[in-house]
Amino acid sequence: MRVAVVGGGAVGVTAAHDLAAAGVDVRLYERDEELGDTQRRPRKRVEGSSHRAAGVLAPRPVDAADAQIAERAMDRFEWLAGRDHRFTFEPRPQVTLVAEGEQRKVATLRGQVDAAREHGVDVACYDAEAITERFPELDASGVELAAVTERGGYVVPGPGTYVRAMADRADDLGVELWTGVEASVSHRGDGPRVNSERFDAVVVAAGGWSKRVLAPTGVQLPLKPYRVQALVSESAYDGPMVLDTKAGVYFRSHPDGLLAGDGTVPEECDPDGWEPAGDEWFVEGAVDAVENRTGLQAESEAAWAGIATATPDGEPLLGELLSGLYVGAGWHGHGFMRAPATGETLAGVVLGDREPPAGFAPDRFEGQAVGDFEVREGMEL
Ligand SMILES: Cc1cc2nc3c(=O)[nH]c(=O)nc-3n(C[C@H](O)[C@H](O)[C@H](O)COP(=O)(O)OP(=O)(O)OC[C@H]3O[C@@H](n4cnc5c(N)ncnc54)[C@H](O)[C@@H]3O)c2cc1C
Repeated sequence: MRVAVVGGGAVGVTAAHDLAAAGVDVRLYERDEELGDTQRRPRKRVEGSSHRAAGVLAPRPVDAADAQIAERAMDRFEWLAGRDHRFTFEPRPQVTLVAEGEQRKVATLRGQVDAAREHGVDVACYDAEAITERFPELDASGVELAAVTERGGYVVPGPGTYVRAMADRADDLGVELWTGVEASVSHRGDGPRVNSERFDAVVVAAGGWSKRVLAPTGVQLPLKPYRVQALVSESAYDGPMVLDTKAGVYFRSHPDGLLAGDGTVPEECDPDGWEPAGDEWFVEGAVDAVENRTGLQAESEAAWAGIATATPDGEPLLGELLSGLYVGAGWHGHGFMRAPATGETLAGVVLGDREPPAGFAPDRFEGQAVGDFEVREGMEL
């Protein structure tokens, strides 16, 4: 079996690696010159989201499929960290804060925590007092409800290291890594092709570019790329990972000090024409939010944007589109943390030994206008 994987981000390299591990001949196409890196901050000219991600690994699974994916992803991050000295998984709990008076969010968070607990996730709700007692570095004033997810963390030095480590492992398994090559995908009825070459299967894992990559096949993917942002500050922070839902900001410890993010711009952007620098409003809001919760004057050293992908119902698109043509995209800002498991699932679906989660079926919007939906923030409760 010969399979082409289009896109060398966290999802694509994982799928390519797992396919090769099952004995498949795999070629990976990545238009960037490099697959991953070992940098703490994204390289300026790299557009792929896996290099620009905040690298927060904090699953918020609300159903069984999600819980399974989250647990499997964390297992694989830990497995890789034990085998590649360049890649460290730094375990940290994640604290989600909801402000007083935000009753809808309180109810949503309680519902999510109940659902996650039912699926075996170690998460529980607390009040503000309990939070400051456990995490004295956090100011939880004005907080009505908090949830602490125990099994979380982040990757060090940065998320690009996961891509580099998996790409190197894929290389060892014989995957042809075609970097600096833009893939053009077509499907003429007899099967999928990349740059006119016929493959038994083609997996499109091209992140925010997936809709564009698939357009020549006639598939109209219900997917919208949108900008999200992150910054790094040299203020030293060593507490838990925090998501402040009122400020719309999350932050975590970082090898340089602290990383803060979100800065969602909830509108479709052009994947080949977006602003890569962080916006002033995002930087100001993130710096304020960090100061409010930690007292730190977290001046921004570097702020950047990148692409996340939205679908009409907030769930990913993972599965077969046309005979032999597969997609894995639409992660709503949670694609990095799930990549080890979604890439693995994609490989299993191509091999025919795994069913994709039913809620992820890429044809579930058939008959609907594909562009007719609003971009919803991935971090929103
Ligand atoms: C600022 C920011 C913060 C984020 N924070 C988090 C976080 O904390 N946790 C989390 O889970 N997720 C986070 N995300 C989201 C996460 O980065 C993405 O969901 C995830 O990296 C998607 O991985 P991917 O492999 O699907 O896509 P990508 O990493 O975008 O990879 C797609 C690749 O396809 C390549 N490509 C495109 N077109 C072609 C073509 N025609 N031929 C060949 N190659 C092509 C691109 O160059 C790219 O490298 C964040 C994103 C951003 C931007």
